[in-house]
Amino acid sequence: MKVGIIGGGYSGLGAAYYLNKEGVNDITILEYEDHLGGLASGFKRKDWKWPIEKLIHHWFTTDSYALGIAREIGLGNKLIIKDTKSSCFYNGRIAELDSATSLLRFPFLSFLNRIRLGMAMAYLRFDGNYLKYEKETSYSFIKRSMGKEVFKVLWEPLFQGKFGKYAEQVNAAWFWARIHPRTKSLAYIEEGFDKFTEAMAESIKDNGGKIILNSRISKITKEKDKFAVYRGRKKFIFDYLILAVPLQIALKMYNFPEDYKNKFSPLNSIGAQYFVLELKNKFLEDGTYWLNINDKNFPFMMVAEHTNFVDKKNYGESHIIWVGKYLDYESPLWKLGEKELLDNIIPFLQKINPKFEKSWIKSQFFSRFKNAQPILPLNYSKKIPEIETPIKNLLMLNMNQVYPWDRGTNNALGLGYKAAKIIKKNSQKK
Ligand SMILES: Cc1cc2nc3c(=O)[nH]c(=O)nc-3n(C[C@H](O)[C@H](O)[C@H](O)COP(=O)(O)OP(=O)(O)OC[C@H]3O[C@@H](n4cnc5c(N)ncnc54)[C@H](O)[C@@H]3O)c2cc1C
Repeated sequence: MKVGIIGGGYSGLGAAYYLNKEGVNDITILEYEDHLGGLASGFKRKDWKWPIEKLIHHWFTTDSYALGIAREIGLGNKLIIKDTKSSCFYNGRIAELDSATSLLRFPFLSFLNRIRLGMAMAYLRFDGNYLKYEKETSYSFIKRSMGKEVFKVLWEPLFQGKFGKYAEQVNAAWFWARIHPRTKSLAYIEEGFDKFTEAMAESIKDNGGKIILNSRISKITKEKDKFAVYRGRKKFIFDYLILAVPLQIALKMYNFPEDYKNKFSPLNSIGAQYFVLELKNKFLEDGTYWLNINDKNFPFMMVAEHTNFVDKKNYGESHIIWVGKYLDYESPLWKLGEKELLDNIIPFLQKINPKFEKSWIKSQFFSRFKNAQPILPLNYSKKIPEIETPIKNLLMLNMNQVYPWDRGTNNALGLGYKAAKIIKKNSQKK
């Protein structure tokens, strides 16, 4: 049984890894880029010991697929698990907000609203029934349960930073999932996600799998019971095919029935653009790892200081921050060039740390990804694309399927697990 996987991000890698566990070894991963890892891929400067992700990446301690695989492939002793500090920037000040005690001290909300926020968050953590939340938008739910002040100060800027012009459409089950299982402890891995990606790839290859990079797949046809996959003129033949690429790309890759495509065409997604800045000095001096920007006028929605989580000795003693934002493709910021964007963010970084100067920047890395975050509208549970498509033995894996959970490498690996089980089961029916 030959299995083809298009896309070498975490869902594609996860599918290959778990297929191996099911005893399926004739697997070929075809990846567009010259590297694996997709959104979780990284880069490395010459004088750094470790690479870093282009977009901020960490795991939660509840991410059982990711941490489980890390242990299985011999990286368990490389996991770094630590409590981190999260804060908000509002009205020119930073305040911690990541625990009950920091909430009680949180200066940007009245005492009554802090209590109201704490009670609503506690309820969301306790309540396991997410489906009831999807009938209402997050905006409406937050205003109703936490009040207008909490909405304005805390959540509205974050929703706008995360979903841009789609912010008002996002259902409250997505919000529930952001609160319900979160842990204060985060996990990272020595040598970064690239190390994990590399070790997964080694494991897949050791089990007989092939990984072919620089493979842009433009056409797929079905010939009798097999799939013909074209990379330019080169043709690959598979019995099972997994499209482990964003939904919008998968729908264009194969000539699916019109009614099937139309079902998903109203689903939107948004892009992400991030700077990784290598700095001479510490930027978030209070030790904050993740800083939410609760000011809608900022051209970014978060700053995270990686070296407040992981030792700076791994990056040539430099301090590393990510500065990021999600954007819809019509946004003027999406069209700006890297230099203009950097010039644009510097005065805002100075608002956070007035000592910061452009000369602190030793190097910068800019990246822009389309299809970085799906928009989850009302009653989304009825709109989720299935892993199995209407075409026999053609599966697809994408961030639109992990609902109510937010996109994440752990959930991508989990999709890979499900795909492996489906293929194994279907192959036994023959
Ligand atoms: C800003 C940001 C921050 C994030 N932070 C975290 C975090 O802290 N922790 C976490 O766990 N997750 C995080 N995530 C989410 C995580 O990166 C994704 O959920 C996960 O990587 C998705 O994996 P995927 O395989 O589904 O998709 P992708 O990573 O998008 O992989 C798809 C792959 O398909 C390839 N491809 C596309 N078209 C073709 C083609 N025509 N032919 C061949 N190949 C093709 C692409 O090159 C890519 O490698 C973050 C995401 C973003 C955007």
